[in-house]
Amino acid sequence: MADTIFALSSGAPPAGIGVIRISGGDAATALSALAGRLPEPRRASLALLSDPSDGAPLDRALLLWLPGPGTATGEDMGELHCHGGRAVVAAVERALGRMAGLRRAEPGEFTRRALANGRMDLNAVEGLADLLAAETEQQRRAALLMTEGHFSRRIEGWRLRLLDLSAMAEAALDFSDEDDVPDAAIEARIGEGIAALAQDVAQVLAAPSAERLRDGVRVVLAGPPNAGKSTLLNALVGRDAAIVSDVAGTTRDRIEVPAALGGVAFLFTDTAGLRAEAGDAVEAIGMDRARAAMDAADILLWLGDPDALPREDAVPIAAQSDRMDHRGHPGLKLSALSGEGMDALARLLLEKAAALLPREGDYALHARQRQGVTALLRYLGQAGRQADLLMLAEDLRQARRAIDTLTGQAGTEDMLDRLFAGFCIGK
Ligand code: GDP
Repeated sequence: MADTIFALSSGAPPAGIGVIRISGGDAATALSALAGRLPEPRRASLALLSDPSDGAPLDRALLLWLPGPGTATGEDMGELHCHGGRAVVAAVERALGRMAGLRRAEPGEFTRRALANGRMDLNAVEGLADLLAAETEQQRRAALLMTEGHFSRRIEGWRLRLLDLSAMAEAALDFSDEDDVPDAAIEARIGEGIAALAQDVAQVLAAPSAERLRDGVRVVLAGPPNAGKSTLLNALVGRDAAIVSDVAGTTRDRIEVPAALGGVAFLFTDTAGLRAEAGDAVEAIGMDRARAAMDAADILLWLGDPDALPREDAVPIAAQSDRMDHRGHPGLKLSALSGEGMDALARLLLEKAAALLPREGDYALHARQRQGVTALLRYLGQAGRQADLLMLAEDLRQARRAIDTLTGQAGTEDMLDRLFAGFCIGK
């Protein structure tokens, strides 16, 4: 049997309350040893905890006894809501650590047990990781959707439809064995089923990726030296992140600054000014990097000549409008100094970002999930083109395997190790 684990699951002490969670077969023994009795299941009760080794009082705490398997980890669990002082938490943890069969939990170990015991699937676990890391409203909403299991349920629906299709294919195969004439009607129904499922899967894949939501929409500011790029970046992020100077070539490398605007995460990049001739080798490298950043931009703000847009979709900006004459300039007139046009720029950024980010109710898929869904779609496409029923049945089997990988049923240990290493202890 697995060890019983414990960890402080609330924030670092000192805090108002320190919640210590215990999970595993010895949870009941540990609770009774500390509180002198096992509380009624699923009911909060107060108890004086004392150290089982010498009977010395530890703290008065709120106790929860949660017998498995209907718990977060799927195991027997206990919770101790102690006073959140450093010494209190340390003393209770010390007492727990001395009990036979108990040890401190590793990062994410509670969640890992939830996954192992089928209380959560891998997608919900990843959603949980995102939820804990969420800093913007949009990130929070997308992560909640994932961790609440909406996507997992959608996948479960796919799995059931695949099972149906496989069963039909197998039946048609048996039938053709006997009579040598496959039932055309069944084959047509299988074909329609595959097409409908593939359409549903493709729709999920069309949603924008989670990476964009997490890392921010990439906004790159580019143009010649002294166009006002650094000043504009500082105004956008609300602090002095980039060096402003009127010496050309000051920003010699890219400066990336994450910032939230209207609840949306952006990653703003200031680039080295572009001019015909670089002053030295370092500036030349800076200009190369600037061009690479411009290529990779989701939104490119161009502070240079509006007749020489570096990309068709670049947004022309008429910067420093408080001191420059921009007659005839088709771009957005703004001044980072006076504030003119800054609201309009923020609106424009949010509008363009909305098209790149998941909409309310869309799933934000991670690279791993996109890979899984793409593989699934590939096998479905392959199955849909098969003339041979035997090959079709094999493609459907592969499609089911892709789903198992997606839900973590066929996950590899090192992938899980990597995922859980990013979790906090106590989660
Ligand atoms: P960059 O080389 O494109 O990053 O340009 P900077 O942001 O370093 O700006 C070059 C110079 O123009 C600095 O002296 C800034 O103070 C000045 N500047 C930038 N933006 C504005 C603006 O909106 N209004 C005014 N009056 N000066 C600005």
